[in-house]
Amino acid sequence: MAEPARAKPKPTPETKHFWDGTQARELRLQRCDECSNVYFPPRPFCPSCASRKVSVFKASGKGTLYSYVINHRPAAPGFTPPYALAVVELDMKLEVAFEKLDDKITLPLFRPAKG
Ligand SMILES: [Zn+2]
Repeated sequence: MAEPARAKPKPTPETKHFWDGTQARELRLQRCDECSNVYFPPRPFCPSCASRKVSVFKASGKGTLYSYVINHRPAAPGFTPPYALAVVELDMKLEVAFEKLDDKITLPLFRPAKG
C-alpha cells in the first residue's frame, strides 16, 4: 500500500504573504502596528488588541524548542509517523529549515541552530 503524500497547505488571501515567504526561504510573520504584538498563524487583525493595522516582517527563523511530542501513530493522511509536533518560541536556539513540496508550497520546519 502506497503511503499518502505529505499534507499540503492551501494558501488563502490571509496566508499568502506567509507561503510567498517560505517559497523565498523567508519566515514572514505579522506584527501589530498599535501594540507591537507578534503573532502566528496569519490573520488580518491583531489577536491581542483587534487592530487591523498590522505589518508583515521577515523573522530571523531562530528560536527555542518550548515543547514537543513524537507521534508514532497514524493520525491523518499526509502525516507519516514518526513525526514531531512542536511549539517553538522564536528568536533563540532553533533555526528554520525550508522543505520544498512543489513549485507553490514550501514548508517551514525547524532544526537546532548551527553555531
Ligand atoms: Zn495589537
